[in-house]
Amino acid sequence: MGAGGIPNRAINIFEGRKLDDEGEPNTRSDLYQNGKLKQSRWYGPDGKAVRNRDYFHQDSHRNHKFPHDHNWNWANNPPRDPNWVEPDYKNFN
Ligand SMILES: [Zn+2]
Repeated sequence: MGAGGIPNRAINIFEGRKLDDEGEPNTRSDLYQNGKLKQSRWYGPDGKAVRNRDYFHQDSHRNHKFPHDHNWNWANNPPRDPNWVEPDYKNFN
């Protein structure tokens, strides 16, 4: 169990355009673009994404606050909820 902002799971670092929807179970992936952290994604026990944290992306309507999170629900298609929510730093760190 993490405390004081210490991540409570393994982190894989990627550089590039996007993260995969599925990854190593119970890990976090961090996506960097040009050396800047763009996105974190958490994977559940089955390896499917459960949460995103976006540090920056297009915001043409200027209606996003950064960073923010997106929930994933694999009962939906696509599973990523387009609506953003406040970051959950307690459960996703
Ligand atoms: Zn977003």
